[in-house]
Amino acid sequence: MSHATITRIINQLLEQGLVLEGSHGKSTGGRRPIYLHIDHSKLYVAAVKLLRDDCLAALLDLKGRILVIEQLQPTSLSPEILLPAVADSLREMFNSLSIKQEHIIGVGVAASGMCHPVEGTVLRSLNLGWKDIPVADSLGQELGLPVLLENDANACALSELWLGNAKETANSMFIKTETGVGVGIISDQKLLTGSRFVTGEIGHVPVIPDGKLCRCGQRGCLESYVYFKPIQEHYQKITGQNLTHAKFIELVRTGDPFATEIVQETAEALALACAHWGIILDVEVISIGGIWGKLGHEVLDYCQKYYDSILEQSAIPSNVRVTGSSFDDVADLLGAAGLVVSHWFTPAAVPFTK
Ligand SMILES: [Zn+2]
Repeated sequence: MSHATITRIINQLLEQGLVLEGSHGKSTGGRRPIYLHIDHSKLYVAAVKLLRDDCLAALLDLKGRILVIEQLQPTSLSPEILLPAVADSLREMFNSLSIKQEHIIGVGVAASGMCHPVEGTVLRSLNLGWKDIPVADSLGQELGLPVLLENDANACALSELWLGNAKETANSMFIKTETGVGVGIISDQKLLTGSRFVTGEIGHVPVIPDGKLCRCGQRGCLESYVYFKPIQEHYQKITGQNLTHAKFIELVRTGDPFATEIVQETAEALALACAHWGIILDVEVISIGGIWGKLGHEVLDYCQKYYDSILEQSAIPSNVRVTGSSFDDVADLLGAAGLVVSHWFTPAAVPFTK
């Protein structure tokens, strides 16, 4: 672009308040340059998390600060009902903050299941009971905004890459637990999707020989150890009480035999998964989401020690960190919002001409 074209565009952005003038730089001969900044508080991104028991919608600024968040209470998971309800909630959110539609650069959606990010389609989701649902098209038409879609575990992995534990690293992995297992893998700072978008579907690969019976019919799947609902149901049956996260963590901390046994089994299964997959992918950071990632000493330290011991046996320098999720329940939303920001602000490759 010519100097005049750039000046004209920048003047328009300055008039709209989207770009701010900053300090003066050093002169390289002519006039001192003025640094220009994007005003991160003038443009917004909407984000949506779609899981069977957990639907959230939020509005964020470009730095990933959540301005407003709402737990959605859908009357049905049917996409014909759920997606228009999501659009209504987002519209109300924009109106309540008096935000103009043209200042929203897009909507990022993190959904449970296999997602086609280019077509914006949920190919298959057991969790939502969906097959071939064009989420990006449907929601995009409702709102008149561009919509980007990604699998929920992938979105969580991106949240760590962009804003969390994996910020300074090239290769990392996010293991989403609790409602099942999903793994998002970052390789060379990019999401690894595979040719059929099923990278990281390790939930039903058995890790413990003759282990716990899984709902899929096999024994020893990682999912059978991290799925929290059967543990809650079992506890309810033997004690008549509801097992919340806080209650479970308290039981673990006070050495309750029921909770201790469960945590040990789960830590062992997660340690195997971390070591197998982490070493194959040569990751630097593994983040574990869900309740198991909140048990620092019992789960994270156990996985870390197991991983380190294997690296030592293999004579590989140990610099891998096993940690909990940086953002808990909003990790999916931050990753989804990041998809939109990245889509607009990652510079496209410039063709090289001599
Ligand atoms: Zn299974």
